[in-house]
Amino acid sequence: MVQDLERAGIRSGHVLAAMGSVPREAFVPAAVRADAYGDHALPIGHGQTISQPYVVARMLEALDLQGDERVLDVGTGSGYVAALLGELAEDVVSIERVPELAATASTVLQALGSANVRVVVGDGSRGWLEAAPYDAIMVAAAGPEVPASLLAQLAPGGRLVMPVGDDSAQDLLLLHRTDDGALERRCLGLVRFVPLVGSEGWTGPN
Ligand code: SAH
Repeated sequence: MVQDLERAGIRSGHVLAAMGSVPREAFVPAAVRADAYGDHALPIGHGQTISQPYVVARMLEALDLQGDERVLDVGTGSGYVAALLGELAEDVVSIERVPELAATASTVLQALGSANVRVVVGDGSRGWLEAAPYDAIMVAAAGPEVPASLLAQLAPGGRLVMPVGDDSAQDLLLLHRTDDGALERRCLGLVRFVPLVGSEGWTGPN
């Protein structure tokens, strides 16, 4: 999988090393485990998916983590991205709205020894104020726009990656808050994620 990612253009040694060391198979249901290292999303139950490795790698690379950051991961899902962030940063809070997914992810993360990752249950479209501000925020579900609460919880110098758009396709956005507080915005390409369901995401039945 790591060689495929390198061939696809992922350059960050840190990201490639983390993706080589976190076992993706531990985060997917037994029924799809044989497929754990293919470059595609896989079902994890509750209508949700573990994201495609290449897209995860692009997002992690864009965050440009150095190892000393406090990170917010929105949409824990399987916990796979949370584990990777735990390898790349100092401290990770991962928030999930579906309690069952959060519980399973938490068990796997504990079993793998990801001691610097904390999973909480809640509406991550509003961020997680208790541990704010964050040096990096990674959102694994697509919203109509970047939630104001997430921007408010992003520290100066911080970066946020998130898919923004409707349910057919989204722009993968990278926002960088410069040290003087301004926001720089870049689009990394088109992606397709499950919806961010919450008060600052998509509301109503999905
Ligand atoms: N990073 C995950 C990807 C999971 S898919 C992984 O590595 O497996 C996105 C997840 O976002 C789903 O589990 C979904 O339930 C969750 N989600 C959607 N809206 C949310 C919200 N407002 N707050 C927290 N989690 C949310």
